[in-house]
Amino acid sequence: MTTPTTPTTPTTPTDPTERHVPQGLPTHLQHFIDGELRDSVDGATFGVLDPVSNEDYATAAAGQAADVDAAVQAAQRAFDSGVWAEKPARARARVLNRIADLVEASDTRLAELETFDTGLPITQALGQAQRAAENFRFFADLIVAQTDDAYKVPGKQINYVNRKPVGVAGLITPWNTPFMLESWKLAPSIASGCSVVLKPAEFTPLSASLWVDIFTEAGLPKGVFNLVNGIGEEAGDALVKHLRTRLISFTGETTTGQLIFRNSATHLKGMSMELGGKSPAVVFADADLEAALDSTLFGVFSLNGERCTAGSRILVQRSIYDEFVERYAARAKNIVVGNPHDPRTEVGALVHPEHYERVLGYVEVGKTEGRLVAGGGRPENLPVGNYLAPTVFADVPSTARIFQEEIFGPVVAITPFEDEADAVRLANDVKYGLAGYVWTSDLTRGHRVAQSIEAGMVWLNSHNVRDLRSPFGGVKASGLGHEGGYRSLDFYSEQQAVHVTLGDVHTARFGAHDTH
Ligand code: NAD
Repeated sequence: MTTPTTPTTPTTPTDPTERHVPQGLPTHLQHFIDGELRDSVDGATFGVLDPVSNEDYATAAAGQAADVDAAVQAAQRAFDSGVWAEKPARARARVLNRIADLVEASDTRLAELETFDTGLPITQALGQAQRAAENFRFFADLIVAQTDDAYKVPGKQINYVNRKPVGVAGLITPWNTPFMLESWKLAPSIASGCSVVLKPAEFTPLSASLWVDIFTEAGLPKGVFNLVNGIGEEAGDALVKHLRTRLISFTGETTTGQLIFRNSATHLKGMSMELGGKSPAVVFADADLEAALDSTLFGVFSLNGERCTAGSRILVQRSIYDEFVERYAARAKNIVVGNPHDPRTEVGALVHPEHYERVLGYVEVGKTEGRLVAGGGRPENLPVGNYLAPTVFADVPSTARIFQEEIFGPVVAITPFEDEADAVRLANDVKYGLAGYVWTSDLTRGHRVAQSIEAGMVWLNSHNVRDLRSPFGGVKASGLGHEGGYRSLDFYSEQQAVHVTLGDVHTARFGAHDTH
């Protein structure tokens, strides 16, 4: 946040190449430490661009070890004071509900800024803002309703669980749907009574700055929420290595997760890791083809394909394969790519030119590995900005890089399969295991295949809708630990077992025997 601002005129985009600049856009984003907006101790900054013009619109304070240390110390002081950690659950829930109200009340503004910073289509950014509010409301309900275990050992003992917040949590988040993914960590950590230091992704720091006013207005005590902007290898690394961060909740790439895991080993920190994916969508010949087409298109092209649970490998049974590919490609070619602020846009601009180049690199690799049936490059009507036409490769062998590696853009690989065993083998033939999707009208087979897919989450004849009580997380290279519902509260809590004797204590009496 929040040095004021370049005056700009809001526009409703009509020309797809037109740049929409939100009114009141900040030109400098600061840290928020101990209830104060601050620059970095050494004054370092980095540039922040928007993906439609690829021009810097702001600078952000680039946090270093000293800034992270100040934030962690502030969080520790707030935690030790008990001002938040020891508040009754109902009192914490009231603040969380006020946060949800404030997010809901400013959802349009939030979405506008998120779209500007990330290139996500505005209608989808709005949905993500509303989901962020829901995350706070959900954990407000959960902490009030929470029970803990107690065990009676008849006539002898009672054992009960004393739940308490762990302490200072470091939250490190990626650039895809940044505000929503931050809420995903902020809501359960704060609900549990922890104090936090958030390090948002350097590509997209804008929406994180909005938490400052939201939390302050909602009455969250000073020092409970701290924000340090910066580069992953600097600010993120310092947060991971800080002695006093007891927990690290990380969402991002698998290779970054592996490095953070190694760096956390010295202090044996608690870790939650939500990592990359290359999820299969398996379409059997007896599927409701219309529904499967809708879902598999949305599954990889929504959120610009920058979606961890994207169904980016579509496995289709041979007898319907040609028809599926033809209809899929026709629909993909028809997807509206354009200015992310235009409500008609279905695919916007990819987040950053570096990421865009990486995705384009995969498109070129794909041209040598599969049969290009849609897209394959920049749309002609969009000469600037990180735009890519929805790109579909058919006949992709499982050995192909575009089958094995996460692309994280609007690019999909379609591969035929013969029978159920072949489908399961192909589905599991990658290092990742985040999500899976199965389409069939044979429910017995549907359950069987769903349960055989090595993934943390499977959707059967449905797509990416998740009740907030259900577990979220990946297996294999897609993550460690499951969050969602009470699992998230467990991650941010210690569960201390207290054992109490009922009646007389009978202990073997060491040293009490008669030595004469
Ligand atoms: P990334 O790993 O490059 O960065 C994620 C965060 O880690 C950023 O804040 C970054 O600054 C920080 N970081 C980088 N190096 C670090 C280091 N050495 N120490 C500490 N922090 C460091 O990921 P990204 O490119 O921002 O995000 C895209 C990735 O996130 C994709 O792989 C995607 O699948 C994954 N993702 C996973 C989920 C999930 O729930 N499984 C959800 C969304 C995104």
